[in-house]
Amino acid sequence: MPLKAQKDGDEVVSFTLTNDAFDALRGDPELRMACCSARAIPKRSKLGTPFFAHGRTGECSSGPETAFHLQSKVIIAQAAEAAGWQAIVEASGQTPDGTPWRADVLCTKGKANVAFEVQRSPQTIAETAERQAIYERSEVRGLWLMTRHRKTLEDRIWLDKSGEYTTPIFFLDDTFQVPRFNCSLHDFITGSLSGQLLYAPRAGQRAQLSLHGSRQSCWKCRKQLMLILELGFQVREHVRWEVPWMYVVEDDDLLQLLEVVLLPELCQRLQIGQLKRRPSKTTKTTYLSQGCPHCDALQGNYFIDELRQKIYRSGTETKYTQVIPLTQITLKESLASWGNARWQFRME
Ligand SMILES: [Zn+2]
Ligand SMILES: [Zn+2]
Repeated sequence: MPLKAQKDGDEVVSFTLTNDAFDALRGDPELRMACCSARAIPKRSKLGTPFFAHGRTGECSSGPETAFHLQSKVIIAQAAEAAGWQAIVEASGQTPDGTPWRADVLCTKGKANVAFEVQRSPQTIAETAERQAIYERSEVRGLWLMTRHRKTLEDRIWLDKSGEYTTPIFFLDDTFQVPRFNCSLHDFITGSLSGQLLYAPRAGQRAQLSLHGSRQSCWKCRKQLMLILELGFQVREHVRWEVPWMYVVEDDDLLQLLEVVLLPELCQRLQIGQLKRRPSKTTKTTYLSQGCPHCDALQGNYFIDELRQKIYRSGTETKYTQVIPLTQITLKESLASWGNARWQFRME
């Protein structure tokens, strides 16, 4: 535990001391390592981080740390405190059944506990998930910063979706930057401890539901109507997705949602035809379809999908489509699964 030492029963944390106070510890025989009570020698890493080294290594299992690792811990602890959290470096704890763990930096605020781990040595995904489970049993949320596997981590191919949420892992480069979010380690830590790191979309989150419609005329009676091109979902400004009509008709949860929001007065006001099964001459079957509010003629799914694609391909959606905000909903798993779920940082 090289950032911490003991002196006369008190804990001494290297980077919280002034330079003079730290230098004054040199040669102090009472200064002991926090891990094993060997003599502690105040030193500075090649990055200038003050730390304590074993006077004699002896039996102690805590090996020497790299200058990078020491400095990361200091940056994380200082960033956490800047965000109003209490930070404990080299913190030890255990699960209710006694499995011990040690976190590089444990941050606490009220009942919330977040452990940051800077992982330099190779550690498989399975091992990381195991260590994460130990944190979870201790009611600690673990967040991993790895200095390996950059490509795998940035392509997000290392875990299934639920694992990505359960075990957040981000690549940290050797200049203390988190390239995925294009920010410094310091800013990433203060941000993530201030609610700016969010996994979305996810079941349980609130989303604004809207209809994306297009004013057209009925192919049969030529009167004005509105066709629903897609359903829109939005969790935050930059977290939004659409489900095209073609998929809506094949998904029970989406249809159920439509049933609730497509109230008769809304349909009448917007001139949306009734949703019901109609026989189709093209497909020679009967299917759930949009219709004309005036003559009830079927408005074919394929026609609607082609119209939608034509509008979006030509980039004229603002001209030909209308966004009709409906209501706020709580996302079910199946609704969230239409969005591209991932970790997002600093979005509104
Ligand atoms: Zn030791
Ligand atoms: Zn019509």
